[in-house]
Amino acid sequence: MSQIAKTKLTQTQLDAHWMAYTGNRQFKQDPRLIASAEGHYYTDIDGRRIFDGLSGLWTCGLGHSVPSINEAVAKQIKTLDYSPAFQFGHEKSFLLAEKITEFMPAPLNRIFFTGSGSESVDTALKIARAYWRKKGKGTKTKFIGRAKGYHGAGVSGFSVGGIPANRTLYGQGLESYHLPHTQVPGTEFSKGMPEKGKERAEELLNLINMHDASNIAAVIVEPMSGSGGVIVPPVGYLQRLRQICDEHDILLIFDEVITGFGRMGAKTGAEAFGVTPDIITLAKQVTNGAIPMGAVAFKQEIYDTFMETGGADYMLEVPHGYTYSAHPIACAAGLASLEAITQQNLIDRVKEMSPIWEACVHQLKAASPLVTDIRNYGFASGMSIAHIDGEPAKRPFQIAMRMWEKGYYVRYGADTIQLAPPFTTEKSEMDSLINALGDTLKEQH
Ligand code: PMP
Repeated sequence: MSQIAKTKLTQTQLDAHWMAYTGNRQFKQDPRLIASAEGHYYTDIDGRRIFDGLSGLWTCGLGHSVPSINEAVAKQIKTLDYSPAFQFGHEKSFLLAEKITEFMPAPLNRIFFTGSGSESVDTALKIARAYWRKKGKGTKTKFIGRAKGYHGAGVSGFSVGGIPANRTLYGQGLESYHLPHTQVPGTEFSKGMPEKGKERAEELLNLINMHDASNIAAVIVEPMSGSGGVIVPPVGYLQRLRQICDEHDILLIFDEVITGFGRMGAKTGAEAFGVTPDIITLAKQVTNGAIPMGAVAFKQEIYDTFMETGGADYMLEVPHGYTYSAHPIACAAGLASLEAITQQNLIDRVKEMSPIWEACVHQLKAASPLVTDIRNYGFASGMSIAHIDGEPAKRPFQIAMRMWEKGYYVRYGADTIQLAPPFTTEKSEMDSLINALGDTLKEQH
C-alpha cells in the first residue's frame, strides 16, 4: 500500500472516503488535512496555521472551538444524548425555538427543526405545497428559484437551485422555473447593494404569465446569493419580488442558510434588506457549525393553518420530520451559539466593521486586472476572476490552492473567490488575508 506524503493514511484509506463536493482524484494526490481548529485558525497535520477566510463553510462566525459551545455539548451528551424526535420532546428545543424567534422578523415565529440546510429547504417547499392544499388550492405545486441560486444538495434543492454544474447530472427534479440572477452589466465593483438590477424582478411576472399563479406555490431566493458568488440584491429588487408574490398569492421563501444570524451585520438578510418573507430557511450559524442542525421559521399564519385543520388528537397536522429534528445536542449547541452572538453584540460588530472589510476587499481591484468584479455585504465578499481557456473555475481553483499553501483558507466556486471571515476578525487579520490574496493574484499574471 502506498503511503501519501504528510499523512499516515494509506491510499486505500483515502480511496474509501468519497468526499462531498470535492475533486476526489486531485485531493487524494495532495490531501489537505486539517488536524485542529481554534479561534480564527486551523492547524493542518503538519502543524501549519491557516486563517479561516470563510468561517468554515459560512458556519463558524464565532470562530472555532468556542468554549461555551464546547461545554454545552459536553454537558448535554452526558445528560440526554438523544431523544425521540416524534411525539416526545425535551425542553431545550423549545428554548432554542424561542431564541431563534428573537432573530427572525416578527411574524415568523414558528420554528421547525431539521438536520441541515438541504433539509430546511425540503421542509420549506413541502410545507408551502401542503399549505396551499390546506387552503383548497392544491394545484399550486410549482416553484420558482433563481439563476446562480444554491439551495442545498437534495432533489428539491437542486431543482430550485440555479447553478448548472449542480443540476445537469441528475435529470428530472421538481417542476421549477428560474428568475435571472441580478449581476447586470454596469454594477461591477458596486459596494453593498447595487443601484441597478431591480428590473430583473419583473421577470417574475413573465413566469407567472407563462405558468399561471394558480400553479405556483412559492418563490425561493437567497436574499444574498452565497455559493453562486456573493450576489447582493439590487436596491428595491427584493421589495418588488415581495409585491408581486403578494399580488399573486405566491409564498416568498428566503433561504438564509448563509445570511441568517449575523453575517449581514443584521439578524437576517430580511432585516438587512428590509423585506419580510413568509418562510426563512436556516442552518450553519445556528450551532456555529459545531453540530449539524437546520431550522425553518414560518409565519404564524402558516402554522395556524395547519393547527386549525389538523383533525383528531391522534392525527399529525403535517406528516413531516426527521430522526434528528431538534436533536438535543444540536439544541444545546444552538442555544450556546446564539447566546454568544447576543452577549458579545456580534451583529453590531459586523455592522460596524463592514465598511472596513469593504475597503479592504475592494483594494483587490487595483491588485490585478484578473479581478473583473468585487461584491460585498456585511462580512461576505465575492470576486469574479477572469477565465482561463474558457474554464471559469480553473483560475479560482489555482488561487485557492496557492492561498492554502500560504496559510489562508478561501473558497472557490464557479468563477469566483468567496470570503466570509469570522465575526470577530481583527483589522490586522483582514489586511493580511487581503495582502496574501493580492500577491497571489499578481503571481497569476
Ligand atoms: N441553502 C443555502 C443558501 C446554502 O448556502 C446551503 C449550503 N451551502 C444550503 C442551503 C444547504 O445546506 P446543507 O449543506 O447544510 O444541506
